[in-house]
Amino acid sequence: MSNRIDITGRTYGHLTVRCLTEKVKGIRSRQWIVDCAACKLSTVFPGATLRAGMVTSCGCKPRLNLRGFNLVKRMRSSGQRLCKSLPASVSANPEVRFFLEPSGKTVHKLAAESAIAALELSPLGDGLLTDQSQTWIAP
Ligand SMILES: [Zn+2]
Repeated sequence: MSNRIDITGRTYGHLTVRCLTEKVKGIRSRQWIVDCAACKLSTVFPGATLRAGMVTSCGCKPRLNLRGFNLVKRMRSSGQRLCKSLPASVSANPEVRFFLEPSGKTVHKLAAESAIAALELSPLGDGLLTDQSQTWIAP
């Protein structure tokens, strides 16, 4: 195929593209061999699946990570920042809310925590840091 996009060496989440597979009899399109940094194993994915951000690991990481990845991707493309807000309620178990700046759109708590834990976001240091409030930005 002459118009194939060469993604050798590119990374998608934990995956780094090593090379294109050989043509396999019975399989129409060639796929890409990727190394998974999370578990050090290799696997194979179609190029379109990788480029669309549909996978970020060989499958060893839970789907939670994909949501965090997509969240950061959306923030990057729109220039938004992620805010960890003040508690929604004052109680023994305060609820922490995450939202996108400046749109104010609420972000799923698990996705935000996943992105922060995976170091896909870093603290912005904009003076908002308290024990309950911080702004995070995609590096
Ligand atoms: Zn893996």
